[in-house]
Amino acid sequence: MTLLTIDLDALAHNYGVLRRASEGAEVAPVVKADGYGLGAAQLSRRLYTEGARRFFVARVSEGEALRRELPQGDAEILVLDGCPEGRAQRMANARLTPVLSAVDQALAWRDPPAALHVDTGMNRLGVTVEEAAALAKGGFRPALVMSHLGSGEDPDNPRNAEQLARFREARALFPDAQASLAASSGIYLGSEYRFDVTRPGISLYGGGPREVPHPDFRAVAIMDSPVLQIRELRAGERAGYGSMFQAMRPMRLAILGSGYADGVIRRSHKGGYAWLNGARAPFAIVTMDLIGVDVSDIAVKVGDRAELLGPNALLDDLAVAAGSVAHECLVRLSGRAARTHLGER
Ligand SMILES: *Cc1c(COP(=O)(O)O)cnc(C)c1O
Repeated sequence: MTLLTIDLDALAHNYGVLRRASEGAEVAPVVKADGYGLGAAQLSRRLYTEGARRFFVARVSEGEALRRELPQGDAEILVLDGCPEGRAQRMANARLTPVLSAVDQALAWRDPPAALHVDTGMNRLGVTVEEAAALAKGGFRPALVMSHLGSGEDPDNPRNAEQLARFREARALFPDAQASLAASSGIYLGSEYRFDVTRPGISLYGGGPREVPHPDFRAVAIMDSPVLQIRELRAGERAGYGSMFQAMRPMRLAILGSGYADGVIRRSHKGGYAWLNGARAPFAIVTMDLIGVDVSDIAVKVGDRAELLGPNALLDDLAVAAGSVAHECLVRLSGRAARTHLGER
């Protein structure tokens, strides 16, 4: 059986790392999509005990669920989806703060002061800087002005400085508001990107801010799986469906009791690896319920456990093998794996 352990002490450690890296800016955890699939309730409760008082989610329903989990009182929950028509009552009932992202939303919103999302070049959600200027002229006063970077993981990308310049224009329109630009990666672009509030998600959960492993962050999602069987293959023999794998030499495969139904993205069969008895065991096949790894050079027996994600089988490496990002690798982890949260407070 696949076990997924969610290490809340590692989460607390990563939150501390991000607080130090944010150098005085408030760290507001992003716990959308059920905390990147790891359990928004448990993550947020632990982050609250570590001092977090402002959380970001994507959907109103996520905000409503989180409101029930957090201690009553002082935590603010911001909803990145904003406040489409007809949502205001639900937002008020759960005391959610919308991140308003269109002019009509900003004009319709009354109280309490909300956040305003300004698009500075990502072309996703948000009002333009010009629209923000018109809103400011009309007396609109947000509590927080925010924007999001499209290439923060790449410090050499000129788009970052362009977005920063546009964000500075936007925030100057609202001198009384707090400002927020940086997600995990933006925090590591330099102090000028940090402003008053940072919004990390993936690095809280162990992903490197530059999409490569970063030594300061600990793995929060630890997945492991038993060796069910060991097979000897002759040179030229195939394994798995179709032409997924062919042995180039005589070799030994360990068959693990996890598969893409547990969330290991199938495409990672080229380049992915498990950590088994102190060594890397490269993936050969990834099927729905079973993963075959090359253990030709590793002493292994049935019942040994292989790490598929954790301190040795690194999330960022799996993301590269999967042709994806760490965020997707986490949200894909499915409900089939038995879950335990370690370190609940
Ligand atoms: C998802 C998201 C974040 C968090 O991004 P990470 O890369 O996970 O740190 C921050 N801000 C916005 C607007 C987001 O959509």
